[in-house]
Amino acid sequence: MKQDCSVVRDLLPLYVEGMVREETGAFVKEHLAGCPGCQKEYEKLKEPAVLEMTTAEAYNDAPLRRMKRKLVAKRVQTALLAGVLMAVVLLSTFAICSTHQYIPYTQDLLEVTELDDGSISVIFDPRVPHIEVFATPGEQGEVVYRIQAWAYPWEGQEVQREAQFCVISDMDTSQLSIYYVQNNGQEDVLIYGEGTDGGTVTLPRLVLGYYLILAVGVFLVLLVVLLVVWKQPRARRWVVRGLLLPVCYVAGHLIVMGPATLSYTATRDFILIVAIGTLLYCGALLVEGVYRLWREWHTAT
Ligand SMILES: [Zn+2]
Repeated sequence: MKQDCSVVRDLLPLYVEGMVREETGAFVKEHLAGCPGCQKEYEKLKEPAVLEMTTAEAYNDAPLRRMKRKLVAKRVQTALLAGVLMAVVLLSTFAICSTHQYIPYTQDLLEVTELDDGSISVIFDPRVPHIEVFATPGEQGEVVYRIQAWAYPWEGQEVQREAQFCVISDMDTSQLSIYYVQNNGQEDVLIYGEGTDGGTVTLPRLVLGYYLILAVGVFLVLLVVLLVVWKQPRARRWVVRGLLLPVCYVAGHLIVMGPATLSYTATRDFILIVAIGTLLYCGALLVEGVYRLWREWHTAT
């Protein structure tokens, strides 16, 4: 009986909070019914008189409170994790759906007309969903206009739309050049004017490729550091967290760009890669946190 008492008294704090398994609860209940000493202890725990609480009792309570706090933390982290994963899916969908698919030049893509007032109109085939015009300075101080056209992946090019067009008016049309920009590594097509000397190619930005190489480099360096600090658990955990950064960046890159590294919309792509990578990183840290709490919780009970 004595032995049962010490077991029951150890269990009482958990029993009072309703944090024991069903069979354990039944065992404690049965014991309390037949043991006035433990019953008294139970009453004391059930309605703790704040004024009578000694520091020793408060101390005994601490592990329980810590455990409850961890249980709440686990729930909060799990909820956050679900939110982060949702955000990753939404942002990835947005990134993939808002990719510009540039339309290569064909004879029937557009029509250039000189209007009576001297301005130039460019009217596109009705299948073209979006166009953009921008002016760049030429070599002799003249203005060179460039036009590009694209569709989003979800916009079928067989659909007939209201035709896209633009009107370019320049002070001195005698020097005006208009190019159609293909954005596929091929030469820009001169659609009006004399053109600049030699053909021009609008080049994709390489910068995302460099960042990718940088991420792989950081990963390799941290991998070496990880091997060095392998035997120190604390340092190891921090290095693993560091290692996750380039991994998440590369994952973000793959989601936004696929295996491609050349980009005609580098700024937009980079912002999306960083945003998705950051979310993935938060997700990874949360997974780690939930897993650690889960393990502590299950070894504690
Ligand atoms: Zn007892």
